[in-house]
Amino acid sequence: MNIENLYIEVTRNCTIECEHCLRGNKERKNIDYESLDRIFKDIKEIDTLLLSGGEPLINKKALEDIILLIKKYNVKINRIGIITNGTICSNIIIKLLNELKKETSKLEMVVTSDIFHREEIRKYNLENKVKRNYLLFNKLFGAKLDLTLDNTSYTLNKKGRAKYLNIDKINEMTKNRFTKFKFVPVPKDNRLEIINDNVEGHICVDVNGNIVDYGLSFIEEDLFSTYSYNDKDKSFSDSIKEYVTDYRERNSIVKNIYQK
Ligand code: SF4
Repeated sequence: MNIENLYIEVTRNCTIECEHCLRGNKERKNIDYESLDRIFKDIKEIDTLLLSGGEPLINKKALEDIILLIKKYNVKINRIGIITNGTICSNIIIKLLNELKKETSKLEMVVTSDIFHREEIRKYNLENKVKRNYLLFNKLFGAKLDLTLDNTSYTLNKKGRAKYLNIDKINEMTKNRFTKFKFVPVPKDNRLEIINDNVEGHICVDVNGNIVDYGLSFIEEDLFSTYSYNDKDKSFSDSIKEYVTDYRERNSIVKNIYQK
């Protein structure tokens, strides 16, 4: 099976605790080798593999495992994306990123720098550190700053600590502090289908190895992320097939909520 976009939550641990975090309180939870092995042994090609968290660079073991599994199963990956908050960097991390880079045509790093992350990083007094790390990531891997914020998260799907933010507060923070902030449009296309063994759309795997809904958070108590699929007796591709069938049934409900 081939997958267009595969997102993996490699950890739910983080170096900071943003007020707007959609993942809830940080947890010392990392994805395990078995879950990663189950994914990679069943996939031939991934167009974009996105590693996220929590703070994905905390989980060096997962980076090592992923590099090993890509090689072991000879998985073709056109693009690997990493979303980091920029607070950590070390020689080991640089080494792992260099190794990861060899396993794909394109490694893309994004250092989140929207209004809320900046606010939080200032609180933790990590501004200089993040700046230094960003400059290094930029030099070595062409990392970019992400100044955008997806408004779907904040107007429709407030979860985790983010549920305590209201739109007035968001507007106030936007107005007073940063001018480069912009909302990105609500994604209307929740396409997810399988055509000739190609999964078109996004498949997300959370830190527990469950297949979960894209863009709707990984928090279990939330209405739209209660759906998770992880039958260890089934291959990853068979699990995806079941997930996609179910997703398509629920898709019209999700679309209605997005479009309200
Ligand atoms: S928003 Fe990102 S950087 Fe902030 S606490 Fe959550 S996972 Fe960590």
